[in-house]
Amino acid sequence: MKVYKYPAASDWSSLLKRPVMEAAELEGRVLAILKEVQERGDAALIDFALKFDGAAPKSLLATDAEIAEAKVLVSEELKAAIQVAKTNIEKFHTAQKEVQISVETMPGVNCWRKSLPIEKVGLYIPGGTAPLFSTILMLGVPATIAGCSQLVLCTPPNKEGKIHPAILYTANLLGIKTIVKAGGAQGIAAMAFGTASVPKVYKIFGPGNQYVTTAKQLVTKYGVAIDMPAGPSEVAVIADKQANAAFVAADLLSQAEHGADSQVVLISDSEDMINRVQTEVDAQLEKLSRKDLAAKALDNSKAFLVKDMNEAMAMSNLYAPEHLILQVEDLDNLVAKVVNAGSVFIGPYTPESAGDYASGTNHTLPTNGYATAYAGVSLDSFIRKVTFQKITKEGLQKIGPVIETMAAAEMLDAHKNAVTLRLKEINK
Ligand code: NAD
Repeated sequence: MKVYKYPAASDWSSLLKRPVMEAAELEGRVLAILKEVQERGDAALIDFALKFDGAAPKSLLATDAEIAEAKVLVSEELKAAIQVAKTNIEKFHTAQKEVQISVETMPGVNCWRKSLPIEKVGLYIPGGTAPLFSTILMLGVPATIAGCSQLVLCTPPNKEGKIHPAILYTANLLGIKTIVKAGGAQGIAAMAFGTASVPKVYKIFGPGNQYVTTAKQLVTKYGVAIDMPAGPSEVAVIADKQANAAFVAADLLSQAEHGADSQVVLISDSEDMINRVQTEVDAQLEKLSRKDLAAKALDNSKAFLVKDMNEAMAMSNLYAPEHLILQVEDLDNLVAKVVNAGSVFIGPYTPESAGDYASGTNHTLPTNGYATAYAGVSLDSFIRKVTFQKITKEGLQKIGPVIETMAAAEMLDAHKNAVTLRLKEINK
């Protein structure tokens, strides 16, 4: 991690830049993949699996035999853990259901809003470097609570052309019927355009690497909605002198191990703390199975020594991290100052991994600074809030003249007439 001591506020933006690939080059590569899938459908998916994932799957859709095999391969311990996580995620997302709003804005003018599920949704489950079966819970549970009727899951096949057993087990546990062996931009294209094997969906959800995230953004031009740009993971940790350096280092590494393009940022007002965290990071890194990936991410990572905690939070709000971890003495004061972050983890005993897996909050979160404008996935992501209205004769007599006046001022005669005709009939 590079250390920056007391950087001037005017330099923060450039120092906090993410290690993203050049946009034009990335878009060019992804557009070519989208086009292939649009034109050649299933055949393109099989070719891309061979090219990017190392094997052409025998069948593009997971078979009943593969799902049955996965049930045997997943340990009872993991099944029990998945069940606990599922229950917590269900509790937190069920509580997000809204009471229907119904208002009589004027006598006889009734307006209400109803939550309706998006019927066809596509769930992308990353699987390039790690089989993120936890993401199935994060997407599948709220989709089910919302009442979405068709769930399509895409995930990259492994080198045997198969899907990891934990992904198959979790998808089956949630009752997901269409499980497709297609990852990366080609998986997103399959759900956006549809192929002979993959149904076209209305909205695509899920995190992924830069190819996945760029593909999601590009398919919106074809009328498909997406949850948000949820790309390579990142974390900012704000720690003061009393923080536990080993905990801070473990949290930083838990994001760094996601991939070489992940980024971790440490902000502290204590030089001693930064030094102790660096020593801990070096020691813990050695023991990680994904040491090489994490080491590459650490090359992109930075530690900032700042004047005080107010400056630390100002810097974090500018960065708008996907995950923000606070390990400071005066927690309440700092929590109140959070403006831009995807998900916030408070105090020494709240590791980010809790939210990644099992506490109940969603781990599909905006990255690359999008936390300034987007929230993470929630129940709301799977519904549309449709408005309804019903006006009585008396209601139209009250509101009609208002509408006529406004329509006339906008010179929209037909709008005015739609009211005038009715008022004439009522007043006959
Ligand atoms: P992935 O499933 O996102 O991507 C793997 C696919 O990328 C491959 O199947 C392949 O099709 C494609 N690909 C790889 N190299 C390519 C190339 N050169 N050209 C075209 N396509 C290529 O899996 P991953 O790579 O392990 O990445 C998972 C990502 O998800 C990580 O970056 C992680 O940080 C991120 N993540 C984000 C969140 C969030 O909420 N933002 C949550 C979890 C994970």
